[in-house]
Amino acid sequence: MKMSNMLISTLREVPAEAEILSHQLMLRAGMMRKLASGVYNFMPLGLRVLRKIEDVVREEMDNAGAQEFLASALLPSELWKESGRWEVFGPEMFKLKDRNEREFCLGPTHEEVFTDIARNEIKSYKQLPVNLYQIQTKYRDERRPRFGVMRSREFIMKDAYSFDKDFDGLDISYEKMYNAYTNVFRRCSLECKAVAADSGAMGGSGSAEFMVKSEIGEDEIAFCTSCDYAANVEKAPSSPEISAKEEMKELQKIETPNVGTIEQLMNFFNTSADKFAKTIIYNVDGKIVAVMVRGDREVNEVKVTNALGGAIEFEMADEKTVYNATSAKIGFAGPIGIKVDYLFVDNEVANMYNFIVGANDTGYHYSNVNYGRDFEGTVGDFRNVIEGEKCPKCGKPLTLARGIEVGHIFKLGTKYSDAMGATFADENGENKPLVMGCYGIGINRTMASIIEQHHDENGIVWPLAVAPYQVVVIPAVSKNENQMKAAEKIYEQLRKIGVDALLDDRNERAGVKFKDADLMGIPIRITVGKKIDEGFVEFKLRDKEEVETINVDSVIDNVREVYKINGLVL
Ligand code: ATP
Ligand code: MG
Repeated sequence: MKMSNMLISTLREVPAEAEILSHQLMLRAGMMRKLASGVYNFMPLGLRVLRKIEDVVREEMDNAGAQEFLASALLPSELWKESGRWEVFGPEMFKLKDRNEREFCLGPTHEEVFTDIARNEIKSYKQLPVNLYQIQTKYRDERRPRFGVMRSREFIMKDAYSFDKDFDGLDISYEKMYNAYTNVFRRCSLECKAVAADSGAMGGSGSAEFMVKSEIGEDEIAFCTSCDYAANVEKAPSSPEISAKEEMKELQKIETPNVGTIEQLMNFFNTSADKFAKTIIYNVDGKIVAVMVRGDREVNEVKVTNALGGAIEFEMADEKTVYNATSAKIGFAGPIGIKVDYLFVDNEVANMYNFIVGANDTGYHYSNVNYGRDFEGTVGDFRNVIEGEKCPKCGKPLTLARGIEVGHIFKLGTKYSDAMGATFADENGENKPLVMGCYGIGINRTMASIIEQHHDENGIVWPLAVAPYQVVVIPAVSKNENQMKAAEKIYEQLRKIGVDALLDDRNERAGVKFKDADLMGIPIRITVGKKIDEGFVEFKLRDKEEVETINVDSVIDNVREVYKINGLVL
């Protein structure tokens, strides 16, 4: 591509709307532009990167024996009503009606559609296993779109669905996808870890998320410091700290005016946070749910959701709801006499002695509270694991890190095939439900994650495999005929051997051209300057400081060498 013909939209300033680096750099390098909250246009340069990532994904899916398919993004409500998800999906689903009042949605995911295809097309065990995938646009009305394409409302996903005759077959299909995902992210130069994930209340038997370690990640991951255990904090089981046994003392109601937070309580009672149990009240699909955890712990909403058998809307209760449940202001909730639909009590709280809770009376707390004697509820694991907690696999300490989920693989089992009657005839002619798996990769989120891991103060540093263009040839002075001719020749030679090359033939100063090339993150830069008169050009890699002066005749060999080092063939 000749840059004089290109729509170049680089920005020198950091756009105020962008909080994180990948978002800033995607805007500054002219990769994309915002159209509405969580909705983006991809500019030519950005689209090339998306396509390169898609190509890697496509190759790995094909290698794993999956077959490409393309479903519609406009989906009739009937399918979703069959699976029961028309209501369950909640406000994240974009719903619409056609001119005849028939209901549709813009597909947020495609389990129903692929199950429908399978029930129509797959009749016999002889057709199994099958794995179908697509690379397609998804729509989700996210509660909080943010960080550019990291969490947008329209995004491209590769989603695959496997169909097997039994669970052993599913294990094999799942492992093939696990390996394919590992290859995809390695080829995109993304440092990534597969972690055990929550499979939801109605979920299947296994699930893993591919996480990119990053400060800006919205997920928290627990890793073992000594074995290979890694799990999303949503899922990681906590190991309760068992308090030392004490004699149960007499329950006491104590006046605690203007004392509501754990901090204030610790000062007031002159004791530590582990002597308190807090009672947090939620509104879950119209039901009032109270959850008790130790004063220094956090409620794990996913664990609570699973205990409820699933939830669509999960929010903190408002002041009025809290008042109805406790007859008190926020800050004085407790388990004794509380009026809620569910009371969940974390394991640790059930094992504490003589602790302090809110008295459901504004300005009062109870002390010397004991589970079993003073109140009862559903006891279980309802809190997040913490740094240093015991690994559930080997008992050594866990450490926590933030991560960005770029991919997710999931054993669905027969959840959808049962609901939608997707069966096949087995070897004995008996009808059995198809055993399914589903596998997603966020293409745009992968792109943004690569930038999070590969950038410097001058811009993006694309790995060769996904760079929009791999080489930029820069004549230092475009008006100099010798330089321009030599640059054009190199550019043509590169194109001939299949390199995606740019020729910066714009009438700009060399400094401007270098700045743009760096910002766009082009991996190889070849500068044709004064030394061309002696047959030399400059060769520089985006991720290295050094500028090499090389003979113009060895340019192609040098480029080939860089490809080879990066595991790519030319
Ligand atoms: P999250 O927890 O981040 O909302 P999810 O569990 O809803 O993700 P899946 O339904 O498993 O995501 O979708 C598969 C992949 O699609 C995710 O791993 C992620 O890479 C991508 N993805 C999901 N939601 C978005 C979004 N709003 N914007 C961009 N990519 C997304
Ligand atoms: Mg989501």
